[in-house]
Amino acid sequence: MKNSITSLTPNALTALKTELEREYQDYVRRDLKLDMSRGKPAPKQLDLCNGMLSMDLKYRTENGTDARNYGVMDGLPECKAFFAELLDLDPKQIVIGGNSSLAMMYDQVSRLMLFGTGVEPAWKTCQDAGRKIKFLCPVPGYDRHFKICEAMNIEMIPVPLHEDGPDMELISGLVRADEMIKGIWCVPLYSNPQGVCYSDQVVGQLANLETAAKDFRIFWDNAYAIHPIYQAVPLASIFKAVNRSGGENRIYYFFSTSKISFPGAGVAMMASGAKSIAEIKKHMSAQTISYDKLNQLRHLQYFQSADGMKGHMRELADLLRPKFDMVLSKLQDQLGGTGLAKWSTPRGGYFISLDTYPGCAKEVVSLAGQAGVKLTEAGATYPYGLDENDSNIRIAPSYPELEELDTAMDLLCICVKLAGVDKLLRIQEG
Ligand code: PMP
Repeated sequence: MKNSITSLTPNALTALKTELEREYQDYVRRDLKLDMSRGKPAPKQLDLCNGMLSMDLKYRTENGTDARNYGVMDGLPECKAFFAELLDLDPKQIVIGGNSSLAMMYDQVSRLMLFGTGVEPAWKTCQDAGRKIKFLCPVPGYDRHFKICEAMNIEMIPVPLHEDGPDMELISGLVRADEMIKGIWCVPLYSNPQGVCYSDQVVGQLANLETAAKDFRIFWDNAYAIHPIYQAVPLASIFKAVNRSGGENRIYYFFSTSKISFPGAGVAMMASGAKSIAEIKKHMSAQTISYDKLNQLRHLQYFQSADGMKGHMRELADLLRPKFDMVLSKLQDQLGGTGLAKWSTPRGGYFISLDTYPGCAKEVVSLAGQAGVKLTEAGATYPYGLDENDSNIRIAPSYPELEELDTAMDLLCICVKLAGVDKLLRIQEG
């Protein structure tokens, strides 16, 4: 293999290590301060929505309701219609929430913990009786999903995420055999962090899983539903794929405008079957009188239509694409063929997933950190922070300016090589 570092002799490796250490020290001396740890939009992306900050907001809804006041707890009908068109959902199955889909996920798991689904005992009751609630977690995955499970004492079972979605053979066997497996986290489009898009077949299999648990639930976090960068990938409708009556009630679909307008100041929603939506509204009515309808109207009046929002996403993609191009070309130029790294080539979303030589991810993140480039913690993409191979790192290219990204990627590639060479030398030394 061209440039393969893994096949170098011990002497050649030692010489390379000296050279890499020298290059690394050059970066340390530059006293960098770059943060690539979270997938935050860059200020230029946010600027594209500045019109929302000064617009003349009309506070009457289509049917004349005064949106400045309490009421319409589950969201404005026109907001539901908007999301329904955008995401190919039925407006009747939608509930609009506050500013965060993650908060809606947390709330939904909490409700299941406290109240259950109405069919089976509340999950907390099971836990109190010593029976562990378990969730399947496709890996690598989104660390904040795992955090919700940890906070609720839900046992996480990692399952491999392949190019077309999670390992369905493994999942089918597990959920059929264990009635304590109650849920699965899915990011079906441009997944965080690899950018995996679920195939129609996988969506169909998930929609119709035979499970031992009567209260099995699918957390369908479609956070990147309209976030293509290189190619818009179609996603099959999980609701339409359901074959058995009532099956849609075990699907909880989440979405928000966090990475469309302003993170922390967008609009979030969830969708499910009629029975689940009725349950959710019942519990919600004890939780809040109403969410922020002015923000719902602000988004509707600013973007005008589902097509308007998709057009905005094309502008955002134009800002993100050069950054993804930069990361991918640096990885290819500097690590391609070395045998020390593999990475994903996402078609959209916010991240690139990097796999270092086994046993090196923590060291790479630590080396980069010491040279002033903060990366997502190694292991964060796995339940309990446990990446058995210690190899996965999530690269978040959105926030830094291109010039900063250029520097950060050069440094990252040096760190990957340095940690890899060091590991190879230690292996050879036995
Ligand atoms: N889900 C996924 C997969 C994410 O990557 C993120 C972060 N953008 C969120 C949910 C958080 O969304 P929100 O800001 O709506 O809570």
